[in-house]
Amino acid sequence: MKYRDTRDPSRQVSFGEAVLRGMDPETGGLYIPLSLPELPRSFLLRNPVPSFRDIAYEVSRPFMEGEIPDEELMAIIADAYPFTAPVTPIDPTTYVLELFHGPTCAFKDFGARFMARMMSWFNRNENEPLHILVATSGDTGSAVGSAFHGVEGIDVTILYPEGKISPLQEKQLCTFDGNVRALKVSGTFDDCQKLVKTAFTDEALRAKLRLSSANSINISRLLPQSFYYIYGSLLVRDRCRYDCKIDDPSLIVTVPSGNFGNLTSGLMARKMGAPIRGFIAATNSNRTIPDWLQTGEYKARPSVSTLSNAMDVGAPSNFERMSAMYSLEEARSVIAGYWTDDAGTMEAIRSCNKRTGYIIDPHGAVAWKAWDDVRNGAMRDLLSGRSNAPGRPGLVGCPETAPEWAKDCSDKTCVGLILETAHPAKFGETVKEAIGRDPSLPERLEKVLTLPDRSSPMSTDYQEFKAWLLANL
Ligand SMILES: *Cc1c(COP(=O)(O)O)cnc(C)c1O
Repeated sequence: MKYRDTRDPSRQVSFGEAVLRGMDPETGGLYIPLSLPELPRSFLLRNPVPSFRDIAYEVSRPFMEGEIPDEELMAIIADAYPFTAPVTPIDPTTYVLELFHGPTCAFKDFGARFMARMMSWFNRNENEPLHILVATSGDTGSAVGSAFHGVEGIDVTILYPEGKISPLQEKQLCTFDGNVRALKVSGTFDDCQKLVKTAFTDEALRAKLRLSSANSINISRLLPQSFYYIYGSLLVRDRCRYDCKIDDPSLIVTVPSGNFGNLTSGLMARKMGAPIRGFIAATNSNRTIPDWLQTGEYKARPSVSTLSNAMDVGAPSNFERMSAMYSLEEARSVIAGYWTDDAGTMEAIRSCNKRTGYIIDPHGAVAWKAWDDVRNGAMRDLLSGRSNAPGRPGLVGCPETAPEWAKDCSDKTCVGLILETAHPAKFGETVKEAIGRDPSLPERLEKVLTLPDRSSPMSTDYQEFKAWLLANL
């Protein structure tokens, strides 16, 4: 499989090059596969549903054909995924795809663990180690650190703003040993990012050290996220006829979104044959994409901070991929846009728990609210021209921009799959405020709290950072 640049389709690279480069260094564009192989019908209809690892293997093989031998790929998948993505029904037409069963309890484990092993594989013949620099405002750093921990030939330096992330998040970042280290920067997230960016453009430094990034734009982080859409949608199709008695329901997947890597992976899974009728793109007040779906105009803006802070993105970088894969019209036919504010998020954590007993985190709560509103009248209202006033939280759009599946919703022939992207204990304070009790802490999070802090302090001065890199890497 070849991969092309989103900005200049004539620039094409192999999978290995796309993995090691991340983005095209000359155009600044992102890589997308030239085509999306369709999964064989016999595979999609297999009974019982294939395992998560079988799906991961079957889906990823054509994307790296000829570059990674089959047995290696199978071993990499087994090593990357000792956990899966269970589907939990919470009411007769709502399923939760739990994406928090990885080591850091957030969905980014799925992408980061695969990417780490791909980078290690394509780096295997190099004599010099590859140094990954990552600036984080919270979750990305721990997923990346954990994913690369112990991976051969690569080390990771994580920069985070001291005092600006939650105590649990900080513990998750600062307690690695071996090839992963953390720098607590006396500044903001933007300062951290600036240090990393300056290092990447420092020719003198790059002549001494092989540097790379590990952000969400890497194609090897997006591809594995399509595995759980395929797995989850097959599981729901398999069991919903028993649960809801709707004949051949349309499956609507609701994705709590920030940088839109997750939703882009879902769009890829759908093109490959996952039985998904449509998506709801659910955001917090950072509603750049819902606004784009509504008005047709893409307007990036500074991010605002919210309770679902991993989704606080005002200029989602995967918009570039979405718009290279879909025209506005095609996007509107598949995706509905929805957003809510912090009050809506709190209310959603509460209502989900009250009505279903399920404890949902603030990110998943945004998705629950979107799905619950859409199935309970918001889509019917939109179709009958009684749309939401502009600038008000809720479902966006008008009858002309409604997705193809809108009528299935008002006819009540849909079932919903909500992506739960983090364990509620990671956002325990917010959850407690909403429902009056603490979510239980999984053992792997509890353990991290007792480990010693191994981070080093760092100022926002680039020369100091550079000296540290040269002395320590
Ligand atoms: C990163 C993250 C998101 C947003 O995912 P995108 O791919 O950036 O849209 C949602 N929820 C949680 C918990 C996250 O960590």
